[in-house]
Amino acid sequence: MQTITVLGSTGSIGTQALEVAEKHNIKIKALAANSNTELLARQVKQTGAEYACICNKSREASLRAALEGCDVKILTGNEGLKTIAQLDGVDKMLNSVVGMVGLEPTLAAIEKGTDIALANKETLVAGGELVMKRAAEKGIKIYPVDSEHSAIFQCLQGNKREQLDKIILTASGGPFYGKKRDELKNVTVQQALNHPNWSMGSKITIDSATLMNKGLEFIEAMHLFALEPRQIEVVVHRQSVVHSAVQYKDFSVIAQMGVPDMKIPIQYALLYPDRVECPTRELSLTDYGTLTFEKPDYDTFDCLTACIHAITMGGIMPAAANAANEVAVRAFLDGRISFLQIGELVRNAISTVKNRPCDCLETVLETDRQTRALTEERILQLDS
Ligand code: MG
Repeated sequence: MQTITVLGSTGSIGTQALEVAEKHNIKIKALAANSNTELLARQVKQTGAEYACICNKSREASLRAALEGCDVKILTGNEGLKTIAQLDGVDKMLNSVVGMVGLEPTLAAIEKGTDIALANKETLVAGGELVMKRAAEKGIKIYPVDSEHSAIFQCLQGNKREQLDKIILTASGGPFYGKKRDELKNVTVQQALNHPNWSMGSKITIDSATLMNKGLEFIEAMHLFALEPRQIEVVVHRQSVVHSAVQYKDFSVIAQMGVPDMKIPIQYALLYPDRVECPTRELSLTDYGTLTFEKPDYDTFDCLTACIHAITMGGIMPAAANAANEVAVRAFLDGRISFLQIGELVRNAISTVKNRPCDCLETVLETDRQTRALTEERILQLDS
């Protein structure tokens, strides 16, 4: 029997992971959430977790009240996440928190020697060089949870990594597929949150609408699979059935398919290399009938273009692009900026921040702080 911890347990990935864990008798040692104390308390009672962490410290009293009488240790804040990342007797940590806050727990788990199921893409976008280097030194396995990276990981099984030619990273295109910039000027938060295929949290859903999500995944893929930018082809595939593919040197292309349900990649990351029944539905290709593939519109979806630019520059630029986007998405959700301004803010960060090597955690955190500040400043200028 496997024992895991789940960071981000009340989010979309976290709740589905608990469903998978329950089906396969995976023991849950610790749970962490940002602010949803009600659901976190219910999860603690259901799973018998020994530790519960609430990141938003102002919610501590509410969590304590909800868990009154339970035999559970309560932790708070980012220190709590790091404590959970370093617990003894854990086989795997699922990191599904949203944003840069996921980086330090990932590094902490690596130091502890715990394998990671990684759903927090910002970890690799901002600190990819550090994380992959340290994981290799410590012999830690990182199992991708993101559907595209899980697909690539699955397509690599049983083949020689050095014979890989390129990967084909598929993108649904999001809710604004086919739209041009002048049609996107006045889109509302509600329209942007209306994703055609996947049901996800608000940050990633906005990232899917801007295609920033694909840009982050592009960077994530480079780190996870040690690729050059020219080895990644982004293809818009509206149906989200082909989750990504790998092309080998003989031009044989192997794709992974399935219904768009995150429980499949979550389960593969948790149970690797086992393939047993998953709590989802099977794929019917004849129900779909037609699968389509197109080139992305790089002019309209400038966040994707900006991410590819950032990773090609290297150094701290991906961390800067990520930080600007986190601030911009928050501002868009709060009604402070328009949809197209998200891309402008990401591009602004890349052209303003001075690049340097991304050699240590402090550099990543400093870049993150600096870029958040300059992006906030820029938003204030836009307001006035
Ligand atoms: Mg994805």
